[in-house]
Amino acid sequence: MISYTTSEELSKNLRKSIEKGKKVAFVPTMGALHEGHLELIRTAKQQCDIVVCSIFVNPTQFNNQRDLEKYPRNLKIDKTLLESEHCDYLYAPSVQEMYPNGLSNGFVVPDIGNITKVLEGTHRPGHFEGMMQVVSLLLDNIPCTYLYMGLKDYQQYCIVKKMIKAQKRSIQLFGVPIVREKSGLAMSSRNRRLTPKARFKAANIYLSLLYTQIQFDQFELDLLEKNATEFIENVSGMKVEYFTLVDCETLEPSKNKENIIALTAVWYEDVRLIDNMFMY
Ligand code: AMP
Repeated sequence: MISYTTSEELSKNLRKSIEKGKKVAFVPTMGALHEGHLELIRTAKQQCDIVVCSIFVNPTQFNNQRDLEKYPRNLKIDKTLLESEHCDYLYAPSVQEMYPNGLSNGFVVPDIGNITKVLEGTHRPGHFEGMMQVVSLLLDNIPCTYLYMGLKDYQQYCIVKKMIKAQKRSIQLFGVPIVREKSGLAMSSRNRRLTPKARFKAANIYLSLLYTQIQFDQFELDLLEKNATEFIENVSGMKVEYFTLVDCETLEPSKNKENIIALTAVWYEDVRLIDNMFMY
């Protein structure tokens, strides 16, 4: 694997490969890699000729300074993991390289409707604007034909899909299913901030989604949401920020029970966990 902290040479190499008809996959991450990230690399590796991973903890998408400071960083281990998956290139820029003129780089947020305002958008103001800003910058710097993102961050996936279309980029977005720990807890860099006992109990979030799926045909959406919230909050220390059943395209409430996804955000031991599950 060849590592770069600047993009000039990397983008030249990638452009040449694309011109030769190679499929170039790009996997953006914030590092502290786990099996969830590695599954993205593996999927990209299977489907494409060249895989580029980026590691950049993007300050503009953190609405909480403490969360940014506490975000785990371990580039050395990450490099070893990427090498073991035969990732071809790593792009690990500094904040200065990404934002040479300061964090407000004049990025114009594309108008993609209400989808950035709901759910995570309500609870993490500015998060999606920062995420779109960095994904746009990365896509400007790293020529690619395929973009791989996890369905764990489902709203992010939907927003990036709409953003790529709005910006008329000829990139195909591929959503990789959620990778879970043995307990069912969705893998996340934040899980390592939980005590081992809490990490195990956090699997109740997954169970609440499973129960909702099992009971889906029996109850109305609002009752399912209420039951799931109660189920999660029965675990001492867990507080549900939202548990909602919405249309999987618009993420808005739906009048019928077709194409519904359950999305949830839960606070546990000062750690914010998100998860989701399709109800069909
Ligand atoms: P992050 O480093 O948290 O920004 O995540 C980088 C990419 O990995 C995003 O596209 C995430 O959706 C994806 N990802 C993170 N955790 C998982 C997981 N458990 N399963 C699948 N994809 C994941």
